[in-house]
Amino acid sequence: MAASLLGRDKRSTAASLKAECSRQDGRGVQLLGELLDSVLSPERAVAEAEVIEWCKSLMAGGESFDDFCKMVRGYDNATLCGLVWTANFVAYRCRTCGISPCMSLCAECFNAGEHTGHDFNMFRSQAGGACDCGDSSVMRESGFCKRHRFATSSNIPCVPNELMMMSEHILPRVILHLIQHLRDGYNEPDSDPATERDLQKTLQQMEPLISLLEDLTKMGGAMRSILTRVLTNHQIYKDLCSGDLCTGEKAYTKKNYEKYLTALKGSGLVSSEERSVTSVLDQMAGASNVTILGATAGTGQMDSSDEEEQDGSQGVGKRKRVKLSNSTKDSSIMDILKHKCFLEELLFWTVKYEFPQKMVTFLLNMLPDQSYKIAFTKTFVQHYAFIMKTLIKSHESDTMSNRIVHISVQLFSNEELARQVTEECQLLEIMVTVLLYMMESCLIKSELQDEENNFHVVVNCGEPLLKNNTYWPLVSDFINILSHQSVAKRFLEDQGLLQMWMNFVSFFQGMNLNKRELNEHVEFESQTYYAAFAAELEACAQPMWGLLTHCKIRETQEYTRTVVRYCLDALQDWFDAINFVDEPAPNQVTFHLPLHRYYAMFLSKAIRCQQLDLDSLLPDQEMLMKMMVHPLQIQASLSEIHSNMWVRNGLQIKGQAMTYVQSHFCNSMIDPDIFLLQICASRLDPDYFVSSVFERFKVVDLLTMASQHQNAALDTEHERSMLEGALTFLVILLSLRIHLGMTDDEILRAEMVAQLCMSDRTHSTLLDLIPENPNPKSGIIPGSYYFETMLSAVADFKAPVFEPGGSMQQGMYTPKADVWNQEFDPIMVILRTVYRRDVQSAMDRYMGFLKQTGKFTSTPWPPYRERAPLNPSYKGLMRILHCKTLHIVLFTLLYKISMDHQNMSEHVLCMVLYLIELGLDNLPEETAEEEEMFGEERCSDSWFHGTNIATNLHHIINYVRVRLPETAPEVTREPPASTSSDTSSFIQGSRRATALTRENSNTAQVFSLVAERRKKFQEIINRNSGSAIQTAAVRPKTSKWTAPNSTPQLTTTILEIRESMLSLLIKLHHKLSGKQNSYYPFWLEDSESTSTLDPMQQIHGDGIIAIERILLKTAARSRQNKCSIEEICRKVAPPVPPKKSNSADKKALDKEERRQKARERQQKLLAEFASRQKSFMETAMDLESPDSDVAMDVGSTEQPDSETVYDCVICGQSGPSTEERPTGLVVLLQASSVLGHRRRSTEPKKLPTSDEEQIYPEDTCGTAHDVRITDLQQYFKDAGFGLKWALMKIKFQSSCLQSVSIGWEGGVYVQTCGHTLHIDCHKSYMESLRNDQVLQSFSVDKGEFTCPLCRQFANSVLPCHPEKSEEKSIWSPYNSKSLLTLIKEVEEQQEQLGMFPSITNLSKEMESVMKDIRSATQKKYIDYGKTPGSPDNDFLFMYSVARLNLELELVHRGGNLCLGGASATTKRSCLNQLLHVLAMHMRLFRIDSAYNPWTRLTRLTQVMDYGICDDEKPEVPLLYRDVSSLLLILVLTMPQELHKEHFTCIVKVLYNLLYTQAVSTLSFQFSEEERAAWKNSGKLKQTMCNSDKSWEVLLSHIICELSKGRLYNASNTGQVSMLGTNVWSPQSIEYSIQQFCLPFLRTTSLLQHHLFGNDLPSCQRTEEFGMLASYLGLLLPCLQSNDEFCSSACLDWPIAALDLISQWCLEVTTSAESHSEQVTNLLVQDPQWSLPCLLQLPENYNTIFQYYHRKACVHCSKVPKDPALCLVCGTFVCLKGQCCKQQSYCECVLHSQNCGAGTGIFLLINASVIIIIRGHRFCLWGSVYLDTHGEEDRDLRRGKPLYLCSERYKVLEQQWVTHTFDHINKRWGPHYNGL
Ligand SMILES: [Zn+2]
Ligand SMILES: [Zn+2]
Ligand SMILES: [Zn+2]
Ligand SMILES: [Zn+2]
Ligand SMILES: [Zn+2]
Ligand SMILES: [Zn+2]
Ligand SMILES: [Zn+2]
Ligand SMILES: [Zn+2]
Repeated sequence: MAASLLGRDKRSTAASLKAECSRQDGRGVQLLGELLDSVLSPERAVAEAEVIEWCKSLMAGGESFDDFCKMVRGYDNATLCGLVWTANFVAYRCRTCGISPCMSLCAECFNAGEHTGHDFNMFRSQAGGACDCGDSSVMRESGFCKRHRFATSSNIPCVPNELMMMSEHILPRVILHLIQHLRDGYNEPDSDPATERDLQKTLQQMEPLISLLEDLTKMGGAMRSILTRVLTNHQIYKDLCSGDLCTGEKAYTKKNYEKYLTALKGSGLVSSEERSVTSVLDQMAGASNVTILGATAGTGQMDSSDEEEQDGSQGVGKRKRVKLSNSTKDSSIMDILKHKCFLEELLFWTVKYEFPQKMVTFLLNMLPDQSYKIAFTKTFVQHYAFIMKTLIKSHESDTMSNRIVHISVQLFSNEELARQVTEECQLLEIMVTVLLYMMESCLIKSELQDEENNFHVVVNCGEPLLKNNTYWPLVSDFINILSHQSVAKRFLEDQGLLQMWMNFVSFFQGMNLNKRELNEHVEFESQTYYAAFAAELEACAQPMWGLLTHCKIRETQEYTRTVVRYCLDALQDWFDAINFVDEPAPNQVTFHLPLHRYYAMFLSKAIRCQQLDLDSLLPDQEMLMKMMVHPLQIQASLSEIHSNMWVRNGLQIKGQAMTYVQSHFCNSMIDPDIFLLQICASRLDPDYFVSSVFERFKVVDLLTMASQHQNAALDTEHERSMLEGALTFLVILLSLRIHLGMTDDEILRAEMVAQLCMSDRTHSTLLDLIPENPNPKSGIIPGSYYFETMLSAVADFKAPVFEPGGSMQQGMYTPKADVWNQEFDPIMVILRTVYRRDVQSAMDRYMGFLKQTGKFTSTPWPPYRERAPLNPSYKGLMRILHCKTLHIVLFTLLYKISMDHQNMSEHVLCMVLYLIELGLDNLPEETAEEEEMFGEERCSDSWFHGTNIATNLHHIINYVRVRLPETAPEVTREPPASTSSDTSSFIQGSRRATALTRENSNTAQVFSLVAERRKKFQEIINRNSGSAIQTAAVRPKTSKWTAPNSTPQLTTTILEIRESMLSLLIKLHHKLSGKQNSYYPFWLEDSESTSTLDPMQQIHGDGIIAIERILLKTAARSRQNKCSIEEICRKVAPPVPPKKSNSADKKALDKEERRQKARERQQKLLAEFASRQKSFMETAMDLESPDSDVAMDVGSTEQPDSETVYDCVICGQSGPSTEERPTGLVVLLQASSVLGHRRRSTEPKKLPTSDEEQIYPEDTCGTAHDVRITDLQQYFKDAGFGLKWALMKIKFQSSCLQSVSIGWEGGVYVQTCGHTLHIDCHKSYMESLRNDQVLQSFSVDKGEFTCPLCRQFANSVLPCHPEKSEEKSIWSPYNSKSLLTLIKEVEEQQEQLGMFPSITNLSKEMESVMKDIRSATQKKYIDYGKTPGSPDNDFLFMYSVARLNLELELVHRGGNLCLGGASATTKRSCLNQLLHVLAMHMRLFRIDSAYNPWTRLTRLTQVMDYGICDDEKPEVPLLYRDVSSLLLILVLTMPQELHKEHFTCIVKVLYNLLYTQAVSTLSFQFSEEERAAWKNSGKLKQTMCNSDKSWEVLLSHIICELSKGRLYNASNTGQVSMLGTNVWSPQSIEYSIQQFCLPFLRTTSLLQHHLFGNDLPSCQRTEEFGMLASYLGLLLPCLQSNDEFCSSACLDWPIAALDLISQWCLEVTTSAESHSEQVTNLLVQDPQWSLPCLLQLPENYNTIFQYYHRKACVHCSKVPKDPALCLVCGTFVCLKGQCCKQQSYCECVLHSQNCGAGTGIFLLINASVIIIIRGHRFCLWGSVYLDTHGEEDRDLRRGKPLYLCSERYKVLEQQWVTHTFDHINKRWGPHYNGL
């Protein structure tokens, strides 16, 4: 039955089945079922296409499927857009409208919504997405588009049951069909690529079916709800899939079902029903876990884990067990899947097949259906673990990651949904478990600290999982759900989760350990570090910031407490696991301490926002001491890395140091570290802290008063920079306030100022450089409103400037003057510099500012800044400034600097002063007396009594005991009598010694920082716990650099010092100023001024000013200090010269200094040289500069007496160009179509941005000439204008080719840089270039080179014609010969045979350059004649080259000659030389006298009887000919050098013709009546005298003559309607004639200028005609007046005008009949063209982008991947596309040849950038679209609105018109025709 139905017509079958089904008896349903059984037979009996057809027809139930679709769509009740897109789709994001940061809109919804003024951007989707329009949980309703704002389900009618009935019956079977297909096609892909191909094949087969389903989802809500019901219904699934299907195919169904079970098992999954099997599987899964660990962490360890757990130690086993003991949860999450509906199994297969795109889109398309969305989200979560497991194994994890995120973003961005699945499906547990599971697969043993006894495990950054960032989809989902408050709360409340999470974080603690290489350079630079940094940022820091957003109010205190507690537990475990005692292992560093950072950031939040008590969150002192060690180790290592102590580890270690402070990492890495150190410093003993710092920086040994010391820890060469590093670190620690009390605003401001001070920045760079605020979601995010207001408060905008010939600049922000004055903070700059040179750059800019404003003129010191007040919780930090240890260090350093000890730098002094000043500004609250009393008690030595810096400053140290090498100069000195001589009893760190020396209160003790720190540490430990074991544990193992015994040559001696810090400061003042007694406290005269003067006024200045400021502050802070200063200064005694001036040291220092100075000088010289070189290059390049290097000019024709002398830029010799040794100009020959793109209208053409707009090429100059020459060739082929080629005396005939010029398209333009060289020198130069071709961007083989002097690109040498002096002098301005005589002379000359040039070097070169010119363009631009390669073509080409170069010069002069000779373009013109070369070649041709136009121009001749030879077409009538072309032909074919008088004669004769053409053209523009009127009025005046110069007479005559051929009749039809509206007056007629003649006058004047050298005069625009006419000698100067009617006054007829005109008109009328349709076109000429310009672009880039990025190419009708647009003609091409490739030329290159003869300007639509193609090279030009900050947005990465920068576009157009792309753009590369 069913089988019989199969053959029937589908539509009628469907109709009858539908009728049957609607009856209630169930027969129809059964029939349908049977039909479907055979259609959807699993044995694939029916072809897939047929299956689809059946399904469609049946669903439509008798209608056509399209009609059915339309009907169903009518019932669409969806209020959401929900459009799903895939990768690379262009979408929008509006921050103003978005609630979730993931919100995105499709272009249609975005454009239909209201977003003007919003903070939006366009972006190219990476992973795909969906439109959120209409979803109010993701975006504000105000941003919905009109379509989705008003859509409500209420006004949509209910769906009639009957319409969807068939679909309801059919769809379950269709889905089943799909599932069966998926089951059958699946084979477990082992590593065999064949099976993978099988999967692809299966997918391909299913494609039509999935497409059908996808189409259904697009039919709107009505169909979607049916589909989703089928997919989620449990019963349907059970009925159809569980193997009980009623038909006889049971066997198949069973087999099919088994395949499904196999696939499940193969994935390590079990259906929960099959628990019986599970036990085995469980063991397998467990075993696999063990092997994963065993393989990486060592099997032996795993074996012992059980025992370890029992005795409760903290080994790795237990920790592992913590996770594995969760395995009840684990296996339910990781291993069990049970499918209850189609959707679940469908997702399972989607995962199995690794997310085929079509399936993903199908599943996502149904998301607007709310119930489906919930069901799908739950299904997704159910499969989550399985998805991630598949991801890890996937070969193409990148694609798969994108597809996963494409789905998950849609599901988890909605808070309500995320909360629901968190509660109902354990989403958080699943995610964290999966994360742990994932990372467990790549753990290794940590080697940090104690390599053997380390039980910590860390991730291995070399594993693909980390290297390829495979974990990111998971992490990004986790971050996404944590952004929802309700979800984050659940997480923070669940202690189990927190514990698991801390375990996870600890996997990253200490990863990627670096060990300093001490001997050999590492062989292999590990590149794992980036994976490590990325992992910490993404997997640890981002979730942390997410959690922190929810802990910002008092009510959330408890969360913070919990996190801090688990964090401390995890830290404690970590210290135990790495077996840490009290000192870090030497020469190790890891940059990864996420646990520390979690702790620090939660503390910061607690104090800042939650009013928690800091002390209640702090651990005990011992723990604090431990926590301080590793962050401090990083700081010291940074300094070591910058001191080049890690060079043997390769460049990557520098990379780590830079990444650590870089803007994207700093607030998750260095900032928390510094903050944690600040906390430790504020709570730990300050002496302990300070000595730890110097110890960690390895400079302890340096801090001795002795002039020499031994440093066991550090090479001498590193001491200076390590000391600088230590002091700088202390300064940063004490002055940074980022987490200690600054507000968000202040932080942003400080960050901005720091970045701007380093360098001017573009807006986008700045956005990138400003780290996100440590308080995420504070509103102060980059790009926000706050950001912009802050930016305008601190910076000025510098709009992009254009340097001619320079690179394109972008808009920049630069600090305001006030910022330099008051806010420039070198400390912040140092903290944020990635490159060390940036600090110097900031200081240089600062110096520039001071000089410019006159505030300070020599080199300033970094300015001291007062700091924001500390949050009271951190007050303890300031104790660091008031501790004895620091003061001893400061005293020692001041002393050493004053004594010129080795390795003391200005930077050290600067930091020392900074610390003293900080101390003075942060005095402790207790009074000085109290402090002193208290201090006395604790005093364990005799350095200082108290801890207050104000007191200690004036404390005089008399003697100091030092240990120093026996070689030191101090050793020989007698120790002062009063001191104990018991040197032997002194043992460093010994308590007995301390007791002994305490008696000796006058002598300060040898101060050992290391001993000090140990002592303090023990004290603290003892205080904490009396446990003896622990004390024992802390007793340090001797490490080589602390052992006192290792330096036996040291002796102890006592130095007499007798200085206080104050006296040292004053001494340093003298030293810096270079004058004794330079410091004199001014208050001695005016005792009141200390209190009134503000020391902060003196901020800018050098060390002298800094010391003065400090002394002033000191005096202001305490009376005693003031007295001390006075006393020191009053001491009249000559200041003691430095006691121990170690001459060797000094010499070394001096030498160093001198070397430094020399280096600076040299640098300066180099810089100067470079800048001079640059400016020379620029002037040489600058086309507009009128007076650049005049010496090189070639336009030297004004020196008639002396021969021109040329300098050869290669050999340097000067001399004339001669026949034997010719000199040549460096020229660039390039084909050009610029003139061909000129149009009639002055209004530039607009770039089309819609389908309605079009550009037609018809009105371009190039096309117009093409049409004309074709017309001429059709009617006037052979007759007439014969040429004889002088050499062979062959006659060539083609009058057409001599009636026009070509070269508008593809003509050759010749330009020069103006430099000359001997041609033989050039040849050897080329030879040398050929030999080292490696580095050149041009190809020497093509003759390309760069000018040896100015480096301008060139490809040929144009020989200079030797000047013969007589030629110059021969002409005179007013010749006496009559016109007739001259005409005769010209004619005679033409009859002469051309002088055949003797073969000389010069003539050879001229021939060779002609060859170059010819080959500079394509063959098709030369061969216009019917016979390719005939000399006719050559002739035409040559004079056209002259024409083109003349006209281009005219264009460069702005289209007219009003500026006269003043224009600079002449200076670099090589036209004179070019004309010589062309003339030399054209002279070889001779015009046959019988066809010579000269005859017909000057005499009455017998008009040829065209009737006689019918087979021959007539020659071209003179009135059809192009007069300028005639001029060039006549001038260039003159057999010898032309005399000026003959030139003028030719011009006069041609002007007569031109005038006649003008008038006849005009006559065609009259209406019939006007023509009649003018004809009659002119006739009357024929008898007047001078009637042949009366325009009225001539007009009348011409109308009369032309009427004879009834030419007007033919024309009147079309033209009159357009032109007849204006009434012609004598004025308008004169104007029209002048306009017609002007182009000829201009080219002629230019020609005369270049041939004869006289300067062009300048004039007003209205006077141009008169001026040029008299310049050419057409008008006598006396006649050149303001007479409006001068065009006819220029006429000079050799014979009776009317007769000549009659003859010319007769030529036309006799031949007109053959081509009556074209007469008007040929006779009515219009020589006026507007200047060439590029297409006019729209203001907003989006207009272009929206139209073109989806536009299909007309050739391949595909949407190109890289669309590009020709800005000359608007052609749309496929850049790089294989689709439009023709014979190995890609479309863009091809178009550049057709449209620009090798030059192309293309806008890359997807990048907003312009590329230039020039011949075989191309370059990236830049963009003409800039954002509101004046910046480009290459590749549209930022997606901000872009606006046309018309200045840039002008520059581009200018470069095109002047053919200077080659010279101005620098980075050219070959394109290999592949663009
Ligand atoms: Zn919308
Ligand atoms: Zn949309
Ligand atoms: Zn908006
Ligand atoms: Zn030379
Ligand atoms: Zn040059
Ligand atoms: Zn084009
Ligand atoms: Zn194309
Ligand atoms: Zn294409």
